[in-house]
Amino acid sequence: MSTRRHGDRLAARGPVVYPFAPMPDRRSRPPANLLAAVLLGVFLGATAPALGDESDRSSPQAAYRAFLEVDRRYQRQVREFLLVGVVEIHRDAFASMATPSRLAKFDALIRRRKEQVGEREPRWEVEFDAAPAAGGESVTFDLARVHFRKVLAPGGRVRETASRRKERLTYVREDGEWRIQNRTLACLACAGTGKSESGDPCYDCAGAGYVEDRFGRIPGLPLPPREALELVEGELTTAETAVRAYLVRSQVAYARVMEGYAQLIGQALEDFHPFFSAEVNGRLSARWTEVQEGGREAFAGIRTDFDKIDEEPDGSRVRATVWARRPTVEGETRDERLRLQFVATEGEWRLDREDPACDACEAAGVCPRCSGIGKNAEGETCLFCRGDGRCRTCRGEGYVNEE
Ligand SMILES: [Zn+2]
Ligand SMILES: [Zn+2]
Ligand SMILES: [Zn+2]
Repeated sequence: MSTRRHGDRLAARGPVVYPFAPMPDRRSRPPANLLAAVLLGVFLGATAPALGDESDRSSPQAAYRAFLEVDRRYQRQVREFLLVGVVEIHRDAFASMATPSRLAKFDALIRRRKEQVGEREPRWEVEFDAAPAAGGESVTFDLARVHFRKVLAPGGRVRETASRRKERLTYVREDGEWRIQNRTLACLACAGTGKSESGDPCYDCAGAGYVEDRFGRIPGLPLPPREALELVEGELTTAETAVRAYLVRSQVAYARVMEGYAQLIGQALEDFHPFFSAEVNGRLSARWTEVQEGGREAFAGIRTDFDKIDEEPDGSRVRATVWARRPTVEGETRDERLRLQFVATEGEWRLDREDPACDACEAAGVCPRCSGIGKNAEGETCLFCRGDGRCRTCRGEGYVNEE
């Protein structure tokens, strides 16, 4: 069992807005990252100044420029949903059960994220090799994409760096228009040469030099039925009903985020349809049908519950630990844990905090280095916990105060 990684959440310094949603996770491998894999990875993750006419597919290069232009627009929508839309979904789901101070934190986070949508826009340029002769029905050509990134230089100055990555495209002509049949990217290990430094075939690409991109690799996604998107009012008069109402609402929020992903994927399939060959489009829509069919079952398999509820003797607040077990893209399950705090407000329990489980000790609260013994294998005092056996990251709490 492993708990979710909370790096992004902590970095955001805001309320926990996606306790049970698969949010971007910088530390996970790309396939585990739904966003990268489903949205940014399937397509290009690209943006640039206007490149050309979006409907011009009269030559392979014009068609590729048009494709990138459509992609630029699409990526912005994706970023907007991931940064802002997901937070709004959660704010909405908990609006009628959270304290005013908690809602104010959501609102502050939404404002900050709206600014980030524009700030995070990546910048790149395309350099084509010599124009290929496009007389036949199929053509393969190379190009390089130059990605510009802002990095923080010593002294706090922002410097822009550029990196080039080669791409190889095969276009076919269908109904008088040029459409993408295949797209590969230069192997990162050998930069497209297919050889390692010693002259042997590159280990990463087996000597091919180029690797498949992720077109059409739409990963599995738990997909909610219609009724799962509807909020149901819950009783907040007892601690247990309030915790149960929380679980119901977190599941609705999760369902709405999944529905948002599904809509973005559906839109991408539509937007990019004119740019792909009939064969590629056929493959994409077959995969999407498969994902949709499996998605209902995956959603039905989600489990959420609470472990324990502790009420303060003076009746002022309640703490509860809750969990959700959800399928991941790789077909495994992942447990996510949170500690909630409710405060008594006019005869109701209102949600005031959601603290994520500690990554370091996976909510156990004990030192992960010495398993709480306080000594290492040599019998010396554990340097990590300095002998008290408690996890340093969460101070033995098992949960992290994210504010
Ligand atoms: Zn290679
Ligand atoms: Zn810990
Ligand atoms: Zn220790």
